[in-house]
Amino acid sequence: MIDPFGRAVTYLRVSVTDRCDFRCVYCMAEDMTFLPKRDVLSLEELDRVCSAFIRKGVQKIRITGGEPLVRRNIMHLFKDLSRHLDSGMLKELTLTTNGSQLPKYANELKNLGINRINVSLDTLDPTKFEKITRWGNIEKVLAGLDAAEAAGLKIKINTVVLKGFNDDSLSKMLAWCGQRNFDLTLIETMPMGDIDQDRNDQYVPLSKIRRKLEKDWSLTDIPYNSGGPARYVKVEETGCKLGFITPLTHNFCESCNRVRLTCTGILYMCLGQDDATDLKKPLRSSEADILLENQIDEAIGRKPKGHDFVIDRNNGGPVIKRHMSVTGG
Ligand code: SAM
Ligand code: SF4
Repeated sequence: MIDPFGRAVTYLRVSVTDRCDFRCVYCMAEDMTFLPKRDVLSLEELDRVCSAFIRKGVQKIRITGGEPLVRRNIMHLFKDLSRHLDSGMLKELTLTTNGSQLPKYANELKNLGINRINVSLDTLDPTKFEKITRWGNIEKVLAGLDAAEAAGLKIKINTVVLKGFNDDSLSKMLAWCGQRNFDLTLIETMPMGDIDQDRNDQYVPLSKIRRKLEKDWSLTDIPYNSGGPARYVKVEETGCKLGFITPLTHNFCESCNRVRLTCTGILYMCLGQDDATDLKKPLRSSEADILLENQIDEAIGRKPKGHDFVIDRNNGGPVIKRHMSVTGG
């Protein structure tokens, strides 16, 4: 799949649910209205779409959400998709999780061929953790990380940087990640979906954070690139990688290799644009996959050149109206 700007689409991110056991303040409002169950693709339908993408050249799939591990029977999907790892058609199957269900699933994930996972953790302070996730308990996440490590999964921590909340404790987070041999990726807040507060109050440019971290750590630029918005450095003192995801200050679109599927079958060709196609229709209107594959081709032909992220400076509201839990980040 080559898009109109010559980029090969090899990476599919799939949100398998919009539901979550947490309510992170930058991601969701406290009283979210979730999608009706009948609109959500079944696990078999998700497998059909993913398999169609793999036939068309997708080599990496990331399962996300909402919280992917709260979807009922989600291990069935991982198990089904793992056949493409066995056949060599799929190079990597991975997930992004808040970690709360890892004590239950870490071993099974590893046994199904998942080698690396991303776990979101914005603070190590239990009180702050409760505040930022509203419903979360850090002990469960730490137990999840222990279970993942014991299972042999390589872990990358995702931390959203929020002004006045955790921007002063990132050096401590980096030290902790170094001790545990976790990579760390810092994420700028993205203006997606209405939440209960003004986004202008949360935003900190990561260039400022990098300058601050460089007072404590030796950071060396490395060419490692996942085709996405992250730029990486090596932390010389620990040997771990530190990534910066800066959608607002850095234009990463020229190397974009990915598209995103929601749990209702909507395919977004760009995280920062509203154009989308509904794959549920061809999926449910025919048992054969030809309509589905044609619609995927047509959509890739419309992948836009780049995103349009801007925080609306007048009212602090989002430019992209859907929440991150819809497309999964
Ligand atoms: N529930 C899982 C988790 O938290 O890792 C997976 C889904 S979550 C939407 C994926 C990632 O998006 C998380 O690392 C989260 O911190 C990040 N995220 C959510 N809303 C965001 C926003 N408005 N700006 C930047 N990152 C955001
Ligand atoms: Fe849930 Fe992840 Fe969003 Fe937090 S960031 S509310 S854990 S989906």
